[in-house]
Amino acid sequence: MSEQQHRNKSGFETRAIHAGYEPDAATGAVIPPIYATSTYKQDGVGGLRGGYEYSRSANPTRTALEGNIAALEEGERGFAFASGLAAEDTLIRSVCRPGDHVVIPDDAYGGTFRLFDKVEKVWGLDHSPAAVSDLDAVAAAIRPGVTRLVWVETPTNPLLNIGDIAALANLAHDAGALLVVDNTFASPYLQQPLTLGADAVVHSTTKYCGGHSDVVGGALVVKDLDLAEKVAFHQNAMGAVAGPFDSWLTLRGLKTLAVRMDRHCDNAEKVVEFLCSHPKVGDVIYPGLETHPGHEVAQRQMKRFGGMVSFRVTGGESHALQVCERTEVFTLGESLGGVESLIEHPGRMTHASVAGTDLEVPADLVRLSVGIETADDLIADLERALGG
Ligand SMILES: *Cc1c(COP(=O)(O)O)cnc(C)c1O
Repeated sequence: MSEQQHRNKSGFETRAIHAGYEPDAATGAVIPPIYATSTYKQDGVGGLRGGYEYSRSANPTRTALEGNIAALEEGERGFAFASGLAAEDTLIRSVCRPGDHVVIPDDAYGGTFRLFDKVEKVWGLDHSPAAVSDLDAVAAAIRPGVTRLVWVETPTNPLLNIGDIAALANLAHDAGALLVVDNTFASPYLQQPLTLGADAVVHSTTKYCGGHSDVVGGALVVKDLDLAEKVAFHQNAMGAVAGPFDSWLTLRGLKTLAVRMDRHCDNAEKVVEFLCSHPKVGDVIYPGLETHPGHEVAQRQMKRFGGMVSFRVTGGESHALQVCERTEVFTLGESLGGVESLIEHPGRMTHASVAGTDLEVPADLVRLSVGIETADDLIADLERALGG
């Protein structure tokens, strides 16, 4: 068994800390250096050391990250990109051709929807939205022989709908399509889609994987070697790769993913409990609640329920906006998944671009990315902002 295979069999936390990199042979450096180099000395023409030729094709810091995230998702190969959207575009163009069709979530991340609707569509790739939580709707949207990808997020953003990954994989495969799961919200610690039948996993590593709001990046992990070859070719041919410093920051983030996620989940559970008993709060949306329609599926496929919480206030849009502007520990801002808590108004911020469409979100909705600060401080902050 190779060292890498051995590590794939280790526990999640061990893989997070060790997979993808051996202490440097020359110096013993425990952490991979930031290989700030574009090119590599060849020992005679074509005499590459370790396969390194030019840093768009491969760079040792990026290689370490790619090996690490592949081990965390239990895939065969990982690929790191300059952003989550760059990873998505590379995957789409590795697999799809003009005239093909894809099924996307009817509440997809806004940037993903825009990529399909405003960019890929112009190149002849058609898409149909369907609710990821509704298997019949997804089945109806699939055009057998034409649909190449069934693309899902679970949990979705910001309504935290849950898709049944194993059942969706069967639907996709029966129609000759691949199942792609955007695993950004769950992170590989809470959910490993490839082990449930998905063919490819996408991450915005900007979020929980990096985890410190200090880097933008993306990743793909696949389990089929033919698909890996296609993605590897396109990663190099399209060139939207993660740079060495970004790769280093993301790899550092991944080492602590397990402990961070557990604290995100602990804090989210406490915040949910508080919100559920507050008179000025209406629906609280969290897959960990038994009343959530996706609770059972989430319980089956996720280790815990994550750090994202959405809720509706009873005072309408103006109250929702007020709450967002009044918090002090929760920072008003877009993005998610960092150690610090964030609050936002999806209708006016992350989801403003879908206003007036089927993807529109309620105006009284507030979204929280619950961070890993002291839970009591988070609750006191929300209590003050809700107006007692
Ligand atoms: C942020 C995000 C993306 C896009 O990733 P970037 O790193 O911003 O390009 C894709 N999917 C989900 C679910 C996200 O939250």
